[in-house]
This record gives sequence, structure tokens and C-alpha cells, in this order.
Amino acid sequence: MTLFYFGPAGLPAGVGTYDEAMERLLALGLNALEVELVHGVRMKPHEAERVGALAVQKGVRLSVHAPYYVNLNSRTAGIVEKSRQRILDSLRRARLLRAGIVVVHAGYYSGSSASEATRSIAEQLARCREEADQEGCSGVLLGLETMGRRASWGTLAEMRGVCSHVERVYPVLDFAHLHARTRGGLGTAEAFALQLERFEEFGAPFLHCHFSGVEYGRGGERRHLEVSVRSPDFELLAPSLRRRGYDVTVISESPLLEKDALLMKTMLEGAEADAAAGRATKVVGGGGGGSWQSKLGQA
Ligand SMILES: [Zn+2]
Repeated sequence: MTLFYFGPAGLPAGVGTYDEAMERLLALGLNALEVELVHGVRMKPHEAERVGALAVQKGVRLSVHAPYYVNLNSRTAGIVEKSRQRILDSLRRARLLRAGIVVVHAGYYSGSSASEATRSIAEQLARCREEADQEGCSGVLLGLETMGRRASWGTLAEMRGVCSHVERVYPVLDFAHLHARTRGGLGTAEAFALQLERFEEFGAPFLHCHFSGVEYGRGGERRHLEVSVRSPDFELLAPSLRRRGYDVTVISESPLLEKDALLMKTMLEGAEADAAAGRATKVVGGGGGGSWQSKLGQA
């Protein structure tokens, strides 16, 4: 049976502590939380340990988002060094938090070709992995987020070049980013299913994904929007997720963090009810028309 986890990226609205956050999420019927270390790894180790124990006790699945200030393909050696350190610190906290995965924005092309960037990023992540494993962090996976801006490294095709060389590194599907980068490529249920199939080729033990609406332009992602804008449309993804045989965590990165996590959970349950009643899988929307395949081919 597939286990589903839904929750927000960071503390719910109006909540100041992780203890309160977990109470609030459980009261809403949610069971996941991404700990946002995005502006620096400032959480103290003893605090991480305490929050991690509480999460296990409450049944809330934690994940960690590493700092945004990471570029493993920078031309400046000092930046690469600091980036590796930030990822390593995130892995250390994740172990104490008993989180299963650390989500990373690996870097930018920084003037190099995609294959050169992939090579540098693979090399740096291998160093992070090795160092972290020596410190007992081998149980925490490294997750590479599919990126929404065209200047950022991070398509599934590029990730293959890293994941085939470094152990326990897997893609994190950010569907808003995939949609933005392909300028509306996720317009049909088939387009979502294709992304899941491509993800499955990596052999990850579970799917960790991010979802929100997104505004995009020529350069890709502009900003995250509410799930209700249906661009991309979670209802096109829900039936496909239901059919998967592995655990799925959906983190809401919408401005309506926990509210939209709950909305997506409701949509997934709607897909379940449809299937139980023997109704045909709902395929609404469209938009992408017949062009999704070619659009996603570029990603
Ligand atoms: Zn991210």
C-alpha cells in the first residue's frame, strides 16, 4: 500500500515553533513538514535532536531543505567549498531530525556547458556524500530539486549524470518548476505520468516532491502561486500518484502553505473515491495540447 504524506515547506501560518507546528499539522490531518534551513543552518544540534524525537513520536515525516546559497559549479573555489559545507551541515541536522532526505539546489551553469556543470556537481556531491557517510549520515538521502529557472542546473536528464555516479542521490520532483521550465509542459495527466516514469528510472526508495502553482516567463519560473490556480493542476497528477507502489511525500510550496497541503490531500482522496467507485480517472484541463512531449523533451 502506498503511504502518502502531505505537509508544508516550513512552519504553518502564525506558528512560531516546531512543537506548535506539529500540533497544528496533526489537527489539520497533515503528517509531513519540510524543515527550511534555506537561509543558513542555524538550528542547534540539540534542538534538531529534540524536534526529531518529537516528530517520530507524533508520526510526522520530516525532510530538510538545504540553504539556497549553494553553487557547486561556481568558478570561485571558495563558493564551492562553502556550498559543500552547507550541504554537509544540512545532512548532519537531518540525521538528528531523523529526516529521510535533504533537498538541494545544486547550482548554476555559471557559463559552463550542461555536461561540464553536471561533472563538477557530481564530483562535489560525491565528496559531500563520502564525508557525511563517514559521520554516520548514510541513512539520509540527498535530493536534487528539479529547477525552474533556465539558468539553474537541474533537469532530470542532467541529474542522471550525477545519480549514476554518486550513491543515494535522487531527484526531488518540483512540479511547479518542471511546469515553468517547459513553459506549461505539465498540461495533461499524461505529461505528469511521464515525469513519474522518468523519476522511477532512478530507482529511488520513495518519491519526495514539491507542488504549488507557478507564474513563469521566458527565463522559466517567476514566482510560486496558490494550488487553486491549477497551473500546474494537482488533480491531473493525483490519479497517477495513487497508482504508485512506493511512499509519496508532497510538500506544499504555495503561499498558502498548510492550507494548500490540505487541499492537495483532499484532491488525492477525491481521486481515490473516484477509483473506488469505478469511475474513469478524471482528466480535466489540457492547455498543453499535443505539445507536451516536445516541450518536456527539452527539459
Ligand atoms: Zn527548493
